[in-house]
Amino acid sequence: MINVSKLKKGVVIDHIEANKGYKIFNQLKLDESEDVVVLMRNVPSQKMGKKDLIKIENDINVDLTVLGLIDPNVTVNVVENGERVNKIKLSLPEKVMGIMECKNPRCISKHENVGEIGFTLVDAGEKLYRCEYCDARTSL
Ligand SMILES: [Zn+2]
Repeated sequence: MINVSKLKKGVVIDHIEANKGYKIFNQLKLDESEDVVVLMRNVPSQKMGKKDLIKIENDINVDLTVLGLIDPNVTVNVVENGERVNKIKLSLPEKVMGIMECKNPRCISKHENVGEIGFTLVDAGEKLYRCEYCDARTSL
C-alpha cells in the first residue's frame, strides 16, 4: 500500500464507498482548496472490501452538510497533533441550500435566475427533498 505521511492536523474522511471518493472530492470543492489534500482510492478494507479515503491537512473547513447528503455512512475523523480527537457522526441534513438542482423542467428555478434553491428533507429513506419553488421531489 502507498504510504501517505501521517496527518498532524486536519480531517480524515474514512469508509467512503469505493469509487465515491472522487465525487465527494468534487462536491467538497477540494479541487479549489489550498490545503494539502490526498484522495486514496480502492484502499483495502476489512469491513468493506475496498474503500476510498480523503485526507485534508490543515484547519477544518469541510461542509459536512454535503457529506451527509452524498454518503451518511462515511466516518469523519478530526486529527490534532497526530491524534484523533473527534469523530463526527453524519446524518442527512434537514435543509439544503444551493447543492441540489430541481429536476422539474417546468420549475421557475430552471427559467429564471433565482439564486440558491432551498430543499427540505421529506423522505430520509429515499433521500428525497422538496424544492422550495415548485414542491417537486428531488434526490441528489
Ligand atoms: Zn423546483
